Amino acid sequence: MKIICIGRNYAKHIEELANERPENPVVFLKPDSAILPRKNPFFIPDFSADVHYEVEVLIKINKVGKHIEAKFAHKYYDEIGLGIDFTARDVQAKCKENGLPWEKAKAFDGSAIIGEFYPKEIFDLENLQFQLLKNDALVQDGNTIAMLWKTDELIAYVSQYFTLKKGDILFTGTPSGVGKVVKNDILTGVLDGKQAFQIKVK
Ligand code: ZN
Repeated sequence: MKIICIGRNYAKHIEELANERPENPVVFLKPDSAILPRKNPFFIPDFSADVHYEVEVLIKINKVGKHIEAKFAHKYYDEIGLGIDFTARDVQAKCKENGLPWEKAKAFDGSAIIGEFYPKEIFDLENLQFQLLKNDALVQDGNTIAMLWKTDELIAYVSQYFTLKKGDILFTGTPSGVGKVVKNDILTGVLDGKQAFQIKVK
């Protein structure tokens, strides 16, 4: 399986990192080795002194598809979840500075937190509230209503480049409020009032 991630999909997050608003969705991949096994703590990697959390709504692809039209994209998923796209912000800054790819900053081991998935019917994907709490303090509070590109548009876009396969996961971008993690932080993800994951940072 593969993980397809979208960057810069919420205007306020683009502002907080002083990035430019993209003309098209920003796309990058994480390998399956990036997935943090369930129940494991997240270990801050040695190569970064500034690892950030980014809470994101996840879409699990349920069948193979290529060149999917946005109006049919909803047929390619029936489960929605929540996760974290951990990002070594200092490493990413260097990559950006030099115009280099982001993989070392985004695709390292443990950088993908994948929480519970729920049947899509129980949510309104166009107006879905999600939060990240750090040690019980609310740090990110997003709603999919603020996405620059909606889920179905993202699926249409990425499937022009990558064949989607059953089990692939789409990270749909983070809202504002991203920040650094330190040892012993506890991160809790909440999707429409449901606790979708809780992880400890070490
Ligand atoms: Zn992200």
